[in-house]
Amino acid sequence: MFRCEAYAAPAADKPLSPLTIERRDPTPEDVVIDILYCGVCHSDLHMARNEWHFTTYPVVVGHEIVGRVSKIGADVTKFKVGDLVGVGCMVDSCRTCPNCREGLEQYCDVGNIQTYGGIEPQTGKPTAGGYSRSITVYEGFVLKVSEKLDLAATAPLLCAGITTWSPLRHWKVGPGMKVGIVGLGGLGHMGVKFARALGAHVVLFTTSPSKVEDGKRLGAHEVVISKNEDEMAAYAQSFDFILDCVSADHDINAYLNLLKRDATLCLVGAPENPQAIAAFPLLMKRRRFAGSGIGGIAETQEMLDFCAEHGITSDVEVIDIKDINTAYERMLKQDVRYRFTINMATLGEPAL
Ligand code: NAP
Ligand code: ZN
Ligand code: ZN
Repeated sequence: MFRCEAYAAPAADKPLSPLTIERRDPTPEDVVIDILYCGVCHSDLHMARNEWHFTTYPVVVGHEIVGRVSKIGADVTKFKVGDLVGVGCMVDSCRTCPNCREGLEQYCDVGNIQTYGGIEPQTGKPTAGGYSRSITVYEGFVLKVSEKLDLAATAPLLCAGITTWSPLRHWKVGPGMKVGIVGLGGLGHMGVKFARALGAHVVLFTTSPSKVEDGKRLGAHEVVISKNEDEMAAYAQSFDFILDCVSADHDINAYLNLLKRDATLCLVGAPENPQAIAAFPLLMKRRRFAGSGIGGIAETQEMLDFCAEHGITSDVEVIDIKDINTAYERMLKQDVRYRFTINMATLGEPAL
Protein backbone atom coordinates (compact mmCIF):
# COMPACT_ATOMS: atom_id res chain seq x y z
CA MET A 1 0.00 0.00 0.00
CA PHE A 2 1.11 3.57 -0.52
CA ARG A 3 -0.36 6.84 0.69
CA CYS A 4 -2.03 9.20 -1.73
CA GLU A 5 -3.55 12.69 -1.37
CA ALA A 6 -7.23 12.95 -2.31
CA TYR A 7 -10.39 14.99 -1.87
CA ALA A 8 -13.38 13.20 -0.40
CA ALA A 9 -17.02 13.77 0.52
CA PRO A 10 -17.23 12.92 4.26
CA ALA A 11 -21.07 12.88 4.27
CA ALA A 12 -24.00 13.77 1.99
CA ASP A 13 -24.40 17.24 3.49
CA LYS A 14 -20.72 18.11 3.94
CA PRO A 15 -18.39 19.83 1.44
CA LEU A 16 -15.57 17.83 -0.15
CA SER A 17 -12.31 18.18 1.80
CA PRO A 18 -8.74 16.78 1.77
CA LEU A 19 -8.20 13.15 2.80
CA THR A 20 -5.12 10.91 2.62
CA ILE A 21 -6.05 7.49 1.24
CA GLU A 22 -4.15 4.25 0.57
CA ARG A 23 -3.64 2.82 -2.90
CA ARG A 24 -2.68 -0.79 -3.53
CA ASP A 25 0.81 -1.62 -4.75
CA PRO A 26 0.58 -2.86 -8.33
CA THR A 27 -0.13 -6.56 -8.86
CA PRO A 28 1.69 -8.09 -11.89
CA GLU A 29 -1.19 -6.94 -14.17
CA ASP A 30 -1.66 -3.42 -12.73
CA VAL A 31 -0.39 -0.01 -13.70
CA VAL A 32 0.04 2.94 -11.34
CA ILE A 33 -0.97 6.29 -12.82
CA ASP A 34 0.00 9.82 -11.74
CA ILE A 35 -3.27 11.66 -12.27
CA LEU A 36 -2.88 14.94 -14.16
CA TYR A 37 -6.51 15.96 -14.76
CA CYS A 38 -9.91 14.70 -13.67
CA GLY A 39 -13.18 15.90 -15.18
CA VAL A 40 -16.14 16.77 -12.95
CA CYS A 41 -19.18 14.70 -13.93
CA HIS A 42 -22.67 15.37 -12.58
CA SER A 43 -22.57 11.73 -11.41
CA ASP A 44 -19.79 12.78 -9.00
CA LEU A 45 -22.22 15.25 -7.44
CA HIS A 46 -25.11 12.73 -7.37
CA MET A 47 -22.81 10.25 -5.61
CA ALA A 48 -21.14 12.72 -3.20
CA ARG A 49 -24.60 13.86 -2.04
CA ASN A 50 -26.11 10.34 -1.93
CA GLU A 51 -28.76 11.25 -4.51
CA TRP A 52 -28.81 7.65 -5.76
CA HIS A 53 -29.13 6.36 -2.17
CA PHE A 54 -26.22 3.88 -2.13
CA THR A 55 -23.19 6.01 -1.24
CA THR A 56 -20.87 4.83 1.53
CA TYR A 57 -18.69 7.51 3.14
CA PRO A 58 -16.11 8.83 2.89
CA VAL A 59 -16.21 8.69 -0.93
CA VAL A 60 -13.53 9.89 -3.35
CA VAL A 61 -15.37 10.51 -6.63
CA GLY A 62 -14.03 11.31 -10.14
CA HIS A 63 -14.09 9.04 -13.19
CA GLU A 64 -12.73 11.15 -16.02
CA ILE A 65 -9.06 10.52 -15.39
CA VAL A 66 -6.00 11.25 -17.52
CA GLY A 67 -2.45 10.83 -16.36
CA ARG A 68 0.92 9.20 -16.96
CA VAL A 69 1.97 5.68 -16.07
CA SER A 70 4.48 5.83 -13.22
CA LYS A 71 4.88 2.12 -12.45
CA ILE A 72 3.91 -1.19 -14.09
CA GLY A 73 3.49 -4.74 -12.83
CA ALA A 74 5.72 -7.53 -14.15
CA ASP A 75 3.15 -8.94 -16.60
CA VAL A 76 1.88 -5.64 -18.05
CA THR A 77 2.12 -5.65 -21.84
CA LYS A 78 -0.07 -2.76 -23.03
CA PHE A 79 1.78 0.08 -21.29
CA LYS A 80 5.19 1.32 -20.25
CA VAL A 81 6.26 3.95 -17.73
CA GLY A 82 5.62 7.46 -19.09
CA ASP A 83 2.67 6.53 -21.33
CA LEU A 84 -0.27 8.91 -21.40
CA VAL A 85 -3.40 7.03 -20.31
CA GLY A 86 -7.02 7.39 -19.29
CA VAL A 87 -9.41 5.68 -16.87
CA GLY A 88 -13.16 6.07 -17.04
CA CYS A 89 -16.09 4.85 -14.93
CA MET A 90 -14.94 1.22 -14.53
CA VAL A 91 -11.72 -0.30 -13.19
CA ASP A 92 -12.60 -3.99 -13.58
CA SER A 93 -15.38 -6.52 -14.24
CA CYS A 94 -15.77 -10.31 -14.03
CA ARG A 95 -13.92 -10.51 -17.40
CA THR A 96 -15.66 -13.80 -18.32
CA CYS A 97 -19.46 -13.40 -18.61
CA PRO A 98 -21.04 -13.14 -22.10
CA ASN A 99 -21.28 -9.34 -21.87
CA CYS A 100 -17.63 -8.97 -20.84
CA ARG A 101 -16.57 -11.35 -23.62
CA GLU A 102 -18.48 -9.21 -26.10
CA GLY A 103 -16.59 -6.09 -24.95
CA LEU A 104 -19.65 -4.78 -23.11
CA GLU A 105 -18.02 -4.75 -19.67
CA GLN A 106 -20.34 -1.94 -18.56
CA TYR A 107 -23.17 -4.50 -18.66
CA CYS A 108 -21.18 -7.24 -16.86
CA ASP A 109 -23.61 -9.83 -15.45
CA VAL A 110 -21.81 -9.84 -12.11
CA GLY A 111 -21.63 -6.04 -12.11
CA ASN A 112 -18.66 -4.01 -13.31
CA ILE A 113 -16.35 -2.54 -10.68
CA GLN A 114 -16.97 1.18 -10.67
CA THR A 115 -14.04 3.58 -10.33
CA TYR A 116 -15.76 4.87 -7.19
CA GLY A 117 -18.57 3.31 -5.21
CA GLY A 118 -17.32 -0.23 -5.97
CA ILE A 119 -15.26 -2.84 -4.11
CA GLU A 120 -11.76 -3.59 -5.43
CA PRO A 121 -11.50 -7.34 -6.10
CA GLN A 122 -7.75 -7.14 -5.42
CA THR A 123 -8.12 -5.81 -1.83
CA GLY A 124 -11.80 -6.08 -0.85
CA LYS A 125 -11.72 -2.35 -0.06
CA PRO A 126 -13.87 0.45 -1.54
CA THR A 127 -12.64 1.88 -4.82
CA ALA A 128 -11.59 5.54 -4.79
CA GLY A 129 -11.83 7.75 -7.86
CA GLY A 130 -9.91 10.44 -9.65
CA TYR A 131 -10.06 13.40 -7.24
CA SER A 132 -6.68 12.07 -6.11
CA ARG A 133 -3.04 12.19 -7.11
CA SER A 134 -2.53 8.53 -8.12
CA ILE A 135 -4.52 5.41 -8.92
CA THR A 136 -3.67 1.73 -9.37
CA VAL A 137 -5.69 -0.01 -12.11
CA TYR A 138 -5.75 -3.40 -13.87
CA GLU A 139 -4.24 -2.73 -17.30
CA GLY A 140 -7.26 -4.17 -19.12
CA PHE A 141 -9.33 -1.14 -18.02
CA VAL A 142 -6.72 1.49 -18.89
CA LEU A 143 -7.06 3.42 -22.17
CA LYS A 144 -4.37 4.82 -24.44
CA VAL A 145 -4.54 8.61 -24.76
CA SER A 146 -3.06 10.51 -27.71
CA GLU A 147 -0.23 13.00 -27.11
CA LYS A 148 -1.89 15.19 -29.78
CA LEU A 149 -4.85 16.44 -27.75
CA ASP A 150 -5.07 18.97 -24.92
CA LEU A 151 -5.02 16.84 -21.77
CA ALA A 152 -7.38 18.87 -19.60
CA ALA A 153 -9.93 18.81 -22.44
CA THR A 154 -9.41 15.08 -23.02
CA ALA A 155 -10.29 13.98 -19.47
CA PRO A 156 -14.09 14.42 -19.91
CA LEU A 157 -14.04 12.06 -22.89
CA LEU A 158 -13.60 9.20 -20.40
CA CYS A 159 -17.20 9.55 -19.20
CA ALA A 160 -19.12 12.36 -20.96
CA GLY A 161 -17.51 11.31 -24.24
CA ILE A 162 -18.11 7.57 -24.15
CA THR A 163 -21.58 7.90 -22.59
CA THR A 164 -22.81 9.89 -25.59
CA TRP A 165 -20.68 8.12 -28.22
CA SER A 166 -21.94 4.64 -27.33
CA PRO A 167 -25.71 5.24 -27.89
CA LEU A 168 -25.06 7.37 -30.99
CA ARG A 169 -23.11 4.45 -32.47
CA HIS A 170 -25.54 1.78 -31.22
CA TRP A 171 -28.48 3.53 -32.91
CA LYS A 172 -26.30 4.08 -36.00
CA VAL A 173 -26.56 7.86 -36.06
CA GLY A 174 -25.23 9.22 -39.35
CA PRO A 175 -26.02 11.16 -42.51
CA GLY A 176 -29.71 11.55 -43.35
CA MET A 177 -30.82 11.31 -39.71
CA LYS A 178 -32.35 14.06 -37.63
CA VAL A 179 -31.00 13.76 -34.08
CA GLY A 180 -32.00 15.66 -30.95
CA ILE A 181 -29.69 16.26 -27.99
CA VAL A 182 -31.43 17.35 -24.78
CA GLY A 183 -29.48 19.47 -22.25
CA LEU A 184 -26.24 21.32 -22.97
CA GLY A 185 -24.04 20.25 -20.07
CA GLY A 186 -20.99 17.97 -19.99
CA LEU A 187 -22.69 15.02 -21.71
CA GLY A 188 -24.90 17.13 -23.97
CA HIS A 189 -22.09 19.18 -25.47
CA MET A 190 -20.20 15.99 -26.36
CA GLY A 191 -23.43 14.57 -27.80
CA VAL A 192 -23.75 17.62 -30.05
CA LYS A 193 -20.13 17.38 -31.20
CA PHE A 194 -20.31 13.64 -31.92
CA ALA A 195 -23.71 13.67 -33.64
CA ARG A 196 -22.43 16.45 -35.90
CA ALA A 197 -19.13 14.66 -36.58
CA LEU A 198 -21.06 11.49 -37.47
CA GLY A 199 -22.96 13.43 -40.15
CA ALA A 200 -26.45 13.81 -38.63
CA HIS A 201 -28.67 16.89 -38.70
CA VAL A 202 -28.39 17.99 -35.06
CA VAL A 203 -31.01 19.84 -33.02
CA LEU A 204 -30.13 20.93 -29.48
CA PHE A 205 -32.86 21.33 -26.86
CA THR A 206 -31.89 23.61 -23.99
CA THR A 207 -33.66 25.35 -21.13
CA SER A 208 -30.97 28.08 -21.14
CA PRO A 209 -31.43 30.89 -23.69
CA SER A 210 -27.84 31.97 -22.94
CA LYS A 211 -26.56 28.72 -24.50
CA VAL A 212 -28.08 29.16 -27.99
CA GLU A 213 -24.99 30.63 -29.64
CA ASP A 214 -22.68 28.09 -27.97
CA GLY A 215 -24.96 25.29 -29.12
CA LYS A 216 -24.47 26.37 -32.72
CA ARG A 217 -20.72 26.89 -32.30
CA LEU A 218 -20.42 23.38 -30.85
CA GLY A 219 -22.15 21.88 -33.89
CA ALA A 220 -25.96 22.07 -33.60
CA HIS A 221 -27.71 23.01 -36.84
CA GLU A 222 -30.70 24.27 -34.84
CA VAL A 223 -31.28 25.15 -31.18
CA VAL A 224 -34.71 24.99 -29.54
CA ILE A 225 -35.62 26.56 -26.19
CA SER A 226 -37.47 23.61 -24.69
CA LYS A 227 -39.57 25.75 -22.33
CA ASN A 228 -41.29 27.31 -25.37
CA GLU A 229 -44.24 25.02 -26.23
CA ASP A 230 -44.85 26.56 -29.67
CA GLU A 231 -41.23 26.00 -30.66
CA MET A 232 -41.45 22.38 -29.45
CA ALA A 233 -44.71 21.76 -31.35
CA ALA A 234 -43.05 22.72 -34.62
CA TYR A 235 -40.76 19.66 -34.25
CA ALA A 236 -43.51 17.05 -33.61
CA GLN A 237 -42.95 13.60 -35.16
CA SER A 238 -39.74 14.60 -36.92
CA PHE A 239 -36.81 12.92 -35.12
CA ASP A 240 -35.04 9.63 -35.87
CA PHE A 241 -33.27 9.59 -32.51
CA ILE A 242 -33.14 11.73 -29.36
CA LEU A 243 -30.48 11.53 -26.64
CA ASP A 244 -31.67 12.86 -23.27
CA CYS A 245 -28.72 14.11 -21.18
CA VAL A 246 -30.66 15.90 -18.41
CA SER A 247 -29.60 15.48 -14.76
CA ALA A 248 -32.84 16.61 -13.05
CA ASP A 249 -36.64 16.18 -13.18
CA HIS A 250 -38.07 17.08 -16.60
CA ASP A 251 -40.94 16.15 -18.93
CA ILE A 252 -39.75 13.22 -21.05
CA ASN A 253 -43.16 12.93 -22.79
CA ALA A 254 -42.58 16.28 -24.49
CA TYR A 255 -39.61 14.65 -26.29
CA LEU A 256 -41.33 11.33 -27.04
CA ASN A 257 -43.87 13.34 -29.05
CA LEU A 258 -41.07 14.64 -31.26
CA LEU A 259 -40.06 11.14 -32.45
CA LYS A 260 -41.11 9.66 -35.80
CA ARG A 261 -42.86 6.28 -35.86
CA ASP A 262 -40.59 3.51 -34.45
CA ALA A 263 -37.90 6.01 -33.46
CA THR A 264 -36.04 5.90 -30.12
CA LEU A 265 -35.52 8.28 -27.24
CA CYS A 266 -32.50 7.13 -25.23
CA LEU A 267 -31.96 8.32 -21.68
CA VAL A 268 -28.40 8.77 -20.46
CA GLY A 269 -29.17 11.35 -17.76
CA ALA A 270 -29.71 9.79 -14.33
CA PRO A 271 -31.97 12.06 -12.25
CA GLU A 272 -32.47 11.21 -8.60
CA ASN A 273 -36.26 10.73 -8.93
CA PRO A 274 -38.26 8.40 -11.21
CA GLN A 275 -39.65 10.27 -14.23
CA ALA A 276 -43.26 9.78 -15.41
CA ILE A 277 -43.83 8.26 -18.85
CA ALA A 278 -47.33 8.61 -20.32
CA ALA A 279 -48.62 5.66 -22.37
CA PHE A 280 -49.98 7.49 -25.40
CA PRO A 281 -46.85 9.21 -26.74
CA LEU A 282 -45.25 5.73 -26.83
CA LEU A 283 -48.04 3.57 -28.18
CA MET A 284 -49.49 5.98 -30.73
CA LYS A 285 -46.42 5.68 -32.96
CA ARG A 286 -44.78 2.47 -31.67
CA ARG A 287 -42.03 4.69 -30.27
CA ARG A 288 -39.22 3.30 -28.11
CA PHE A 289 -37.86 4.56 -24.81
CA ALA A 290 -34.39 3.22 -23.99
CA GLY A 291 -31.39 3.78 -21.75
CA SER A 292 -27.63 3.45 -22.17
CA GLY A 293 -24.77 3.18 -19.67
CA ILE A 294 -21.27 4.50 -20.45
CA GLY A 295 -19.54 2.16 -22.98
CA GLY A 296 -17.21 -0.83 -23.14
CA ILE A 297 -13.43 -0.62 -23.04
CA ALA A 298 -12.87 -1.33 -26.75
CA GLU A 299 -15.56 1.18 -27.67
CA THR A 300 -13.99 3.79 -25.37
CA GLN A 301 -10.66 3.30 -27.16
CA GLU A 302 -12.45 3.62 -30.52
CA MET A 303 -13.99 6.93 -29.32
CA LEU A 304 -10.64 8.26 -28.05
CA ASP A 305 -8.98 7.35 -31.36
CA PHE A 306 -11.82 9.03 -33.31
CA CYS A 307 -11.32 12.17 -31.17
CA ALA A 308 -7.56 12.19 -31.80
CA GLU A 309 -8.14 11.79 -35.53
CA HIS A 310 -10.82 14.50 -35.74
CA GLY A 311 -9.39 16.90 -33.11
CA ILE A 312 -12.43 16.55 -30.84
CA THR A 313 -12.19 17.34 -27.12
CA SER A 314 -14.40 18.84 -24.43
CA ASP A 315 -14.81 22.57 -23.83
CA VAL A 316 -13.42 22.85 -20.32
CA GLU A 317 -12.92 25.29 -17.49
CA VAL A 318 -9.85 24.11 -15.58
CA ILE A 319 -10.17 24.48 -11.81
CA ASP A 320 -8.08 24.11 -8.68
CA ILE A 321 -9.17 21.21 -6.43
CA LYS A 322 -10.01 23.65 -3.63
CA ASP A 323 -12.71 25.17 -5.88
CA ILE A 324 -14.57 21.87 -6.31
CA ASN A 325 -17.44 22.76 -3.97
CA THR A 326 -18.09 26.04 -5.83
CA ALA A 327 -17.97 24.10 -9.09
CA TYR A 328 -20.72 21.77 -7.80
CA GLU A 329 -22.94 24.75 -6.95
CA ARG A 330 -22.37 26.20 -10.41
CA MET A 331 -23.15 22.84 -12.03
CA LEU A 332 -26.50 22.80 -10.21
CA LYS A 333 -27.26 26.27 -11.60
CA GLN A 334 -26.60 24.93 -15.14
CA ASP A 335 -23.60 27.26 -15.19
CA VAL A 336 -20.92 25.00 -16.64
CA ARG A 337 -19.39 25.69 -20.05
CA TYR A 338 -19.22 22.82 -20.55
CA ARG A 339 -17.13 20.71 -18.21
CA PHE A 340 -15.04 21.53 -15.16
CA THR A 341 -11.71 19.73 -15.13
CA ILE A 342 -9.54 19.63 -12.04
CA ASN A 343 -5.81 20.25 -12.43
CA MET A 344 -4.55 17.56 -10.06
CA ALA A 345 -1.18 19.24 -9.59
CA THR A 346 -3.13 21.57 -7.27
CA LEU A 347 -3.48 18.61 -4.91
CA GLY A 348 0.29 18.37 -4.37
CA GLU A 349 2.99 15.97 -5.50
CA PRO A 350 2.13 12.50 -6.82
CA ALA A 351 2.29 9.70 -4.28
CA LEU A 352 5.45 7.60 -4.04
P1 NAP B 1 -24.44 18.65 -16.36
O1 NAP B 1 -23.15 19.06 -16.96
O2 NAP B 1 -24.87 19.25 -15.08
O3 NAP B 1 -25.56 18.90 -17.49
C1 NAP B 1 -26.91 18.64 -17.27
C2 NAP B 1 -27.74 19.56 -18.16
O4 NAP B 1 -29.10 19.20 -18.02
C3 NAP B 1 -27.69 21.02 -17.79
O5 NAP B 1 -26.58 21.70 -18.31
C4 NAP B 1 -28.99 21.56 -18.34
O6 NAP B 1 -28.87 21.83 -19.74
C5 NAP B 1 -29.93 20.35 -18.19
N1 NAP B 1 -30.75 20.51 -16.99
C6 NAP B 1 -30.34 20.58 -15.70
N2 NAP B 1 -31.38 20.73 -14.87
C7 NAP B 1 -32.48 20.72 -15.65
C8 NAP B 1 -33.87 20.79 -15.39
N3 NAP B 1 -34.33 20.95 -14.14
N4 NAP B 1 -34.73 20.74 -16.44
C9 NAP B 1 -34.27 20.62 -17.69
N5 NAP B 1 -32.96 20.55 -18.01
C10 NAP B 1 -32.09 20.61 -16.99
O7 NAP B 1 -24.48 17.07 -16.13
P2 NAP B 1 -23.69 15.91 -16.92
O8 NAP B 1 -22.39 15.68 -16.25
O9 NAP B 1 -23.74 16.16 -18.37
O10 NAP B 1 -24.60 14.64 -16.55
C11 NAP B 1 -25.94 14.57 -16.99
C12 NAP B 1 -26.63 13.38 -16.36
O11 NAP B 1 -26.11 12.18 -16.95
C13 NAP B 1 -26.42 13.24 -14.86
O12 NAP B 1 -27.64 12.80 -14.27
C14 NAP B 1 -25.38 12.15 -14.76
O13 NAP B 1 -25.40 11.44 -13.54
C15 NAP B 1 -25.77 11.26 -15.91
N6 NAP B 1 -24.72 10.38 -16.42
C16 NAP B 1 -25.11 9.15 -16.88
C17 NAP B 1 -24.18 8.29 -17.42
C18 NAP B 1 -24.60 6.99 -18.02
O14 NAP B 1 -23.80 6.06 -18.08
N7 NAP B 1 -25.81 6.88 -18.50
C19 NAP B 1 -22.82 8.67 -17.45
C20 NAP B 1 -22.48 9.92 -16.99
C21 NAP B 1 -23.43 10.77 -16.47
P3 NAP B 1 -29.53 23.17 -20.38
O15 NAP B 1 -29.00 24.33 -19.56
O16 NAP B 1 -29.05 23.13 -21.78
O17 NAP B 1 -31.01 23.00 -20.27
ZN1 ZN C 1 -19.64 10.43 -15.35
ZN1 ZN D 1 -18.78 -9.84 -16.71
